[in-house]
Amino acid sequence: MQKERVVIIGSGPAGLTAALYTARAQLKPLVIAGMQIGGQVAITSEVENYPGFPEGLTGPELVAKMQEQAERFGARLVLEEVTSVDFTKGSPFIVHTHDTTYSADAVIITIGADPRKLKVPGELEFIGRGVSYCGTCDGYFFRGKDIVVVGGGDSAVEEAIFLTKFANSVNIIHRRDELRAGIALQTRAFKNPKISFTWDTVVEEVIGDGLVTGVKLCNLKKDEVYEKKTDGVFIFIGHDPNSYFFKDQLALDDGGYLITDQLYRTNVEGVFAGGEIQDPIWRQVATSVGQGCAAAMSAINWLQAREDELQTLEAPAPEAVK
Ligand code: NAP
Repeated sequence: MQKERVVIIGSGPAGLTAALYTARAQLKPLVIAGMQIGGQVAITSEVENYPGFPEGLTGPELVAKMQEQAERFGARLVLEEVTSVDFTKGSPFIVHTHDTTYSADAVIITIGADPRKLKVPGELEFIGRGVSYCGTCDGYFFRGKDIVVVGGGDSAVEEAIFLTKFANSVNIIHRRDELRAGIALQTRAFKNPKISFTWDTVVEEVIGDGLVTGVKLCNLKKDEVYEKKTDGVFIFIGHDPNSYFFKDQLALDDGGYLITDQLYRTNVEGVFAGGEIQDPIWRQVATSVGQGCAAAMSAINWLQAREDELQTLEAPAPEAVK
């Protein structure tokens, strides 16, 4: 059993920020990074909306800078994957990976959420080359292009409207003939001259040659398969938080997101969470950084208060001091 003061699970922007803050508080945090440092940002081609970098930078460059900054103050990263945790007995908490068992006085969970995948041929192959899960991140690269958006919820419709700032046309492909999105968003989308709809249709394949050139579609009502040309495929069919380790240990909402309070505390004292694992709405590097910072500051304060309390308990009673 390897003893740690703070274990951070996840190494995206929230985790690396939590690592920076807890390292600067002299807690020598251990970051269980997964098999790739950086989370979703590590596979983002360009990040142009993170303040402080007016020219933009690639996702891997931003991750490398965040890692370097955290390590400079003593954070340690291990390329291991968490296999299970035991939070049932309180602090110290037990975290198992394939290789090691850690005990941690405090845990900060920043393991994120993954955009739900269509799971069709070509989808993963063309990520960053026409397939995207983030309009805010990648819309700018589709200026003057014809693109499709997959999904019928608030995210798909909101992002489709956003993408009309850049794209020449946006076709929303939805598997049913009515949207799930709220009525206000629907009204805006129906009024937008750049947006059109393909109903009752699913994507069966993403087609391309280096870059995306089209999609193979299936109209479910007519059972008709055909190809449609497109320069980009934006997929918004929901997110899956990586919370399966925690489902019997921590309070989750209906979507599987960790429930935290304003201090980024979970329902177990000493376990904190920040970033997309507890945020189904904003999902930006900037917001994850802020949430990781807040979770770390809460953890630092909690550990300090606990230490102060222990010292008070251990101090000799006043009458015993002669
Ligand atoms: P969502 O509400 O779960 O919608 C997912 C959409 O993708 C649905 O239309 C669903 O179709 C479709 N879909 C799911 N799996 C699919 C598949 N395998 N193939 C094709 N289509 C598939 O997810 P979301 O839009 O990301 O929203 C998540 C939460 O955030 C919601 O509570 C939403 O209200 C909220 N949100 C709010 C705002 C806002 O208020 N401005 C903006 C964004 C998100 P069906 O409709 O047929 O199920």
